[in-house]
Amino acid sequence: MTTLTGSNFIAGEQSQLGTTTFTSVNPKTKQPGTVQFHNATTEEIHRVLAAAVDAYQQTRLYSAASLAYFLDTAASEIFALGDELLQTADMETGLGIPRLTGERGRTTGQLQAFAKLLREGSYVEAIIDTALPERQPAPRPDIRRMRFPIGPVGVFSASNFPFAFAVAGGDTASAWAAGNPVIVKAHPGHPATSELFAVAINRAIAATGFPAGWFSLLQGATVEVGQLLVQHPYLQAVGFTGSLRGGRALFDTAAQRQHPIPVYAEMGSVNPIVIMPQAVTARAESLAEGLANSATLGSGQFCTNPGIVFMIDSDETQNFIISYRDKMAARPNGVLLNEHIESGLEHAVAATQARESIHTLTGGFVVDGDSFAYANTVMKTTAADFIADAALQNEHFGPVTLFVVAASPDELTLALQSLHGNLTATVHAESSEADAAMPIFDLLREKAGRLLWNGFPTGVEVVYSQMHGGPYPATTAPATTSVGITAIQRFMRPVAFQNMPDALLPDALKNANPLGIWRTVNEAYTKDPIS
Ligand code: NAP
Repeated sequence: MTTLTGSNFIAGEQSQLGTTTFTSVNPKTKQPGTVQFHNATTEEIHRVLAAAVDAYQQTRLYSAASLAYFLDTAASEIFALGDELLQTADMETGLGIPRLTGERGRTTGQLQAFAKLLREGSYVEAIIDTALPERQPAPRPDIRRMRFPIGPVGVFSASNFPFAFAVAGGDTASAWAAGNPVIVKAHPGHPATSELFAVAINRAIAATGFPAGWFSLLQGATVEVGQLLVQHPYLQAVGFTGSLRGGRALFDTAAQRQHPIPVYAEMGSVNPIVIMPQAVTARAESLAEGLANSATLGSGQFCTNPGIVFMIDSDETQNFIISYRDKMAARPNGVLLNEHIESGLEHAVAATQARESIHTLTGGFVVDGDSFAYANTVMKTTAADFIADAALQNEHFGPVTLFVVAASPDELTLALQSLHGNLTATVHAESSEADAAMPIFDLLREKAGRLLWNGFPTGVEVVYSQMHGGPYPATTAPATTSVGITAIQRFMRPVAFQNMPDALLPDALKNANPLGIWRTVNEAYTKDPIS
């Protein structure tokens, strides 16, 4: 068993300068943990950044193979933490061992997937336009570009994914893969889990000979720690998953710096689902079951949770909503991650219920008992009210579904037009109504990063083609994804070289293509050398 100390991990060294502390709380029992975790201080944050800058001077020159070796080693060390990691995370999040076992596999798999990407090599996106000395009226110079790392990256762990969006989660994996040192602001909901990750990562650093400042962990249960991190002039980019309020605050802080930096914040999303009339007629039962499964998965605490369902009014629609309500009411209430999530959900639902247009069909209250829990909740409103009241688009982070019922197809279109940005949007339709669904998809494409046909948005594949992002307020950077292999692009910066002698070019851009990678040369995708 690892002896937890409650320290910050500063470039391999444990530090407890802070005099204020906090503990984790078991959401299944509401009992506090025994370890006191120290809020990071200004001095510690400066030491972390200074070490990261030192490390970057080395790692910016590391080969892709070295970076890949580190990622694979980190994955092995995380796995080697064994059941202790699963049990600690379960105690701090209540997510359950089966879910956490799956999430651990996803987390180590992400690290290994980026290692594979590095070994393949074309992630640097080498693009070469050779010189045209005879071109009239002026010769074209030789221009070659590729991507490079950007420098120390700050990553904010998410509360709802203690592994996959946390200390060594997707943001960290993609920032490391790009060649950047990472400083993690641990989520105060799972500090012990975070410390175990820090132990494993420091073992990987020792085994691979990477510089100590390649990774640091800051503990904190106050917004000051995160604010100081983002304000620090040595930080070059931020990855964040959490609330709209938190993500927006950090985005604004970064924009106000003397040298603003990008903040890749993934925030609130209500993930609209449109159920077309013939789909209700054809498969009401399986649709209601599938929707209830998705809405209650992980107690509804997913950024892709389907929060709002749009339908066109009819007897079948009203029957569907009643049947869905009964399914939700009959399901056991899941455990919520922490008190903060419970009270946030309570306030968010209460604010929605305060609107005159809202009918609560089931739930709408905190479940008293030993655990943090909120009743599975179903609410209903009209499309006209939804269009008139932007607050009805606020996220309810938990097992909550809001039905928006339109009086006509035209009113459905108007309601969808009023939607804010989201991570996903889904249409359920029969193939016979594809013509009617097409303009709806076209409209939703403007609103979301991932479109689904006859599916449910929870469950996000980590693959090259993935897009987990979307227009504001879903994210602050809609052109990028935080899941999937192209996430690496967020933490790299393209540089073009004009008329550079071959010997001075990076290997990826040299005529001979010594790395043997895919490149775009004079508009053709090829591995061929340039003669
Ligand atoms: P959060 O409150 O946004 O916190 C996430 C992280 O950001 C924490 O480390 C927090 O630090 C830090 N932070 C928050 N506000 C900050 C600020 N103004 N300045 C600097 N740092 C700040 O998110 P959460 O604790 O995970 O959950 C709260 C709500 O977020 C949920 O109820 C839900 O609505 C939403 N959420 C959304 C997603 C999603 O993927 N869409 C995922 C998780 C949560 P401290 O706690 O130390 O202050």
